Amino acid sequence: MSNLESLVRKNIAALKPYVCARHEFQGAASAYLDANENPYNSPRNRYPDPLQVDLKGAIAQLKHVRPTQIMVGNGSDEPIDLVYRIFCEPRTDNVVAINPTYGMYEVAADINDVEYRKVLLNSDFSVDAHRLLAATDAHTKVIWLCSPNNPTGNALNRGEILKILTQFTGIVVIDEAYSDFSAEKSWLDDLDHYPHLIVLHTFSKAWGLAALRCGLAFASEKIIAYFNKVKYPYNVSDLTQLAVLEQLSGGDKFKNEWVKQILDEKAKLTEALKTLPAVQHIYPSDANFLLVKVPDATQIYNDLCQKGVIVRNRTSLALCDNCIRITVGTPAENAELLNALKI
Ligand code: PMP
Repeated sequence: MSNLESLVRKNIAALKPYVCARHEFQGAASAYLDANENPYNSPRNRYPDPLQVDLKGAIAQLKHVRPTQIMVGNGSDEPIDLVYRIFCEPRTDNVVAINPTYGMYEVAADINDVEYRKVLLNSDFSVDAHRLLAATDAHTKVIWLCSPNNPTGNALNRGEILKILTQFTGIVVIDEAYSDFSAEKSWLDDLDHYPHLIVLHTFSKAWGLAALRCGLAFASEKIIAYFNKVKYPYNVSDLTQLAVLEQLSGGDKFKNEWVKQILDEKAKLTEALKTLPAVQHIYPSDANFLLVKVPDATQIYNDLCQKGVIVRNRTSLALCDNCIRITVGTPAENAELLNALKI
């Protein structure tokens, strides 16, 4: 492993971060005259907690990590962007990612003017650590992994990920946005073994809170300190912090119930899809969606749109020729999809 400081961009290492008024003073006061807020319209007149202390306390309990190992973001898209801003020197450094995968890793690379190297998955969508490692060079700062992977749906093999974690000296990001739907063990338990590992989770999927925009990065204290240095001061609104806290106060029983229901529906939907002539193949899925091969994905996508059923046409992605990605919905929504596909 390289020492972390050598991976961080020099301007970020030297950065003097913005210090919010609420950073300087912590505790209760009788008059807050430090942040140029309007004194009226309580409680929405006050800036939110920049470090989301209460929320991180609840998340730490839920995920069995220390609060100092958590960065809370405006969706997990925020930490994805920050990884580039912290570690990747534009036009000099590069990152390596599996292909196909979640599109924002590449978009964020393009925005940050960082070379994005794609390494094709095997034809069964499994990952080959050797080929990923072979694509790296002295300027590779990050390897992006997504497990279960979007859009292929499969969890990546632990042994292959382990090879990457032990042989690559830069940052390894494992995006586990869909891990609640998978029987595979999360890499969160291994954070203390791999100081260059970043694990991403989100409240947008299994927790049913996509509207709130709340994503999580878990990593060593040192990496989290860099996230805190670079993020916008008040990156997560008060409404979001309160609403997620409220959801967490009930524990994870609703989330677990929804996951169970969605997995049951996924099994039923898979069986029903198999009987349709339009369905050529359904790829194994560890997530809440199915990647389905059809004779003509664009035509089926357009037909479904006309009938008011929206799926994702993934035909333009590598290895996904004529594939559509279907999110598992409610029983009624899934029935509507099946009906629309029959005609
Ligand atoms: N990672 C993956 C793999 C995703 O599929 C998505 C959203 N589709 C995200 C991250 C972003 O999620 P968020 O809503 O937390 O920004």
